[in-house]
Amino acid sequence: MFCPSCGKEIPEGATFCPNCGATVRKASSPANSPNSQLTFPGIINKSKMNIFGIIASVVLLLSSFLPFVSVDVFGSSLSASLMDGPDGIIVIIVAIAGIVFSLLGIDIATIIAGAVAMIIFFVENAQVSEATGDDEFGALAAAMIDKGPGYYFLLLGSICLIIAGIIRFIQKKKS
Ligand SMILES: [Zn+2]
Repeated sequence: MFCPSCGKEIPEGATFCPNCGATVRKASSPANSPNSQLTFPGIINKSKMNIFGIIASVVLLLSSFLPFVSVDVFGSSLSASLMDGPDGIIVIIVAIAGIVFSLLGIDIATIIAGAVAMIIFFVENAQVSEATGDDEFGALAAAMIDKGPGYYFLLLGSICLIIAGIIRFIQKKKS
């Protein structure tokens, strides 16, 4: 390279000219390249973001902590949330995945996360139905068992997450 001030050849990458002492501005440095400017807000594109999917995922997240079922035994109410079983952790992981996929606008993964949450709902619902079967004990259990907000949040959250993913997927196909 050559000094912009005196024109003499100077070592490549020099910051000042050894001949005249002029400061040589570096033409390009790795810090100035556009690729290194990719920051967190750059990855999250607001136009890609699925707000409805994020809300549905938060509903899913809440469902694992809220009472899933409550049982009235001789006047006192006992409630259990998904966190009392292994499904609570799975729902939390699915909900966090749903938030991440919705933030990044990955629609297929958002739909899959919603479907996994839906499967967990059906598994949990089958367990509740099993406890309240149509025998005498079942009828007694059915009278005592109440479905809590966690039950409805899990159902609502999974349905909304699937719908949120499908709507955005169709919107992108059209545009
Ligand atoms: Zn010079």
